[in-house]
Amino acid sequence: MEQADVKPKPKKVLKYLGTTFVKTELCKGCGFCIEFCPTKVLEFSKAFNSKGYHYPVMAYEELCNGCDLCGLYCPDFAIFGVKYNNPEYKPAAGAASKDGQV
Ligand code: SF4
Ligand code: SF4
Repeated sequence: MEQADVKPKPKKVLKYLGTTFVKTELCKGCGFCIEFCPTKVLEFSKAFNSKGYHYPVMAYEELCNGCDLCGLYCPDFAIFGVKYNNPEYKPAAGAASKDGQV
């Protein structure tokens, strides 16, 4: 039996589909947003807020799709996600701070 042509898998293109905003001073560092993000975008900051909590930062912003699940799980309304209108949008290198604040 002849082997069927196997098409190469298309490369997964990382798109910048959305982003998050974090109100760092409202965060209590529970980590729900980090735990439940489906694409594992977030990690804790190295810095503390004024209450002594680490807050979430975008570690892999290219993976964020703006679904706002992080916002839905946050008990303190400290984070929310938004979708970009232009899915081809890509921030300039170095433009986004890992410890970005609102
Ligand atoms: S908006 Fe969605 S993909 Fe982006 S960080 Fe929040 S949960 Fe993750
Ligand atoms: S779910 Fe809200 S309070 Fe908990 S770490 Fe994330 S932003 Fe902070």
